[in-house]
Amino acid sequence: MGRILLVFAAVAWACAQTTPDLRQAEQEVRRVRALVDEGALPGRALANAEEALAEARDRDVLQSTLYAQLNVEDLLEGQTAKMLEAAARQLDRQKHKVDQMRSLVEQGAMARTSLTPYLEELDRRRHLHDEAASRARVFEQMAAIVRAEQELELRMEEAPQDGPQIAERFDGESVFSNAHLRMTVLAFEREFGKAMPISARGETALHRSLGFDHRGRVDVALYPDSKEGAWLRRRLEFLQVPYYAFRGFVRGKSTAAHIHIGPPSGRLKKSD
Ligand SMILES: [Zn+2]
Repeated sequence: MGRILLVFAAVAWACAQTTPDLRQAEQEVRRVRALVDEGALPGRALANAEEALAEARDRDVLQSTLYAQLNVEDLLEGQTAKMLEAAARQLDRQKHKVDQMRSLVEQGAMARTSLTPYLEELDRRRHLHDEAASRARVFEQMAAIVRAEQELELRMEEAPQDGPQIAERFDGESVFSNAHLRMTVLAFEREFGKAMPISARGETALHRSLGFDHRGRVDVALYPDSKEGAWLRRRLEFLQVPYYAFRGFVRGKSTAAHIHIGPPSGRLKKSD
């Protein structure tokens, strides 16, 4: 749970502009293709240039997601999938390269020590892939929580009597403020010796993309009946801060259980 707080520096989403690296690789493919067509270069040269282009494309994706130190709250669903795919392809290509080098070593065409840089690069890519996967998991949990709240909102419009089955509501008399949040976060750390697992602090790119107003609201990825969750609810009740306790009603999505602090989420208006 503490991982959720692994908040990556909030940098605005980097525009998906073509990097010089990628442009160069694209030009190189065009250049080599022309030479191969003229018979001035062997076909293998084109395969190499195309592989370099695939590398540059994946680097470009990772540059704007994984390396950009984006806050998970700035990501959208398609972006995490692309990030993970790019990291997986990078890893696969390196595995393939290491296999090729290994067979050259076995044939005696290369010294064993020349494998080292390839293995180091393989290690680096494996580590990056793990990082991408862990970031995607954090995002997935946040997205599941957002969908649970969306479901509540839809059901409340259609059949308000179903509301309590989806989430238990506490109506406090206070207006949820930053000071409440700060105090609660500190008290949680003192009590449990770890960070409070906030999955979404206020508005996120995903909320915005769904037309969802989550400003001034905070989601905490805790099961409401766990020791920590029960503690948090008591605390909010003491402070008279309104909250919703979601118990993961979405079938097969236990990770959607959470505590939403603040007023219910609303619809973003056109002017927002
Ligand atoms: Zn929420």
